[in-house]
Amino acid sequence: MRKQIVAGNWKMNKTLTEAQSLTSEIANMVEDEGPADVQVIISPPHPFIYAVQNLIPEIGKILLSAQNCHHEESGAFTGEVSALMLKSLGVQYVILGHSERREQFKETDQELAKKVDMALKNNLKVIFCCGEPLEVRESDQQNKYVTQQLTNSLFHLSKEDFKNIVIAYEPIWAIGTGKTASSDQAQEMHKTIREHIADKFGTSLAEDTSILYGGSCKPDNARELFSQKDVDGGLIGGASLKSRDFMDIIKSFA
Ligand code: PGA
Repeated sequence: MRKQIVAGNWKMNKTLTEAQSLTSEIANMVEDEGPADVQVIISPPHPFIYAVQNLIPEIGKILLSAQNCHHEESGAFTGEVSALMLKSLGVQYVILGHSERREQFKETDQELAKKVDMALKNNLKVIFCCGEPLEVRESDQQNKYVTQQLTNSLFHLSKEDFKNIVIAYEPIWAIGTGKTASSDQAQEMHKTIREHIADKFGTSLAEDTSILYGGSCKPDNARELFSQKDVDGGLIGGASLKSRDFMDIIKSFA
């Protein structure tokens, strides 16, 4: 059975003390009221990972993710962070292919395929983001666009490696805009993604793959989104920066 997951993507927010407070608040809430069957993941900025790790009490209840890694293991890449470094910190996941990185840092599908390989080589699981821009949605080409992203960056993997992939569908027009995809739009795309995975890797692996929704997911719309058959949780940006909102989203499964 696939996992229900709620992951908080903090992006480039918070200072060290703020990151520590937020982690402690989330850890306490998860301890007190966290549903046992939802995997909670937090993804702080790189400099805070080590410091917040000690604030997560019971191993496994909250897992740590990074927001990016380089496609090489080490070397002359000033300012970059490797999957090997993240693994040595005890990080379990890395977000790859976020639309902000694709747009602002010109990350291509081919570059992302290399990053995915490097992450898996270092035993990190990958939260792989895909999603279409507004003009693609308006011309009704979103299914083709998103499935192509998956083919280009993930379909070279073996079945065994693909088991370590979580997909996050994040329509770009919904990220940080307050405009959420409707639950029907999310379900339709998630189903398309699952069928695409099934075509390549078989139904059983596709059924076991968690597909998260991201893009203005908030406490007041999470329940409706998460109730969809193929929506297995969320990748949460803005609303993950407030512990109460994040917790309410975690509790939004039927
Ligand atoms: P948002 O961001 O929830 O603020 O829209 C989601 C994301 O970018 O992962």
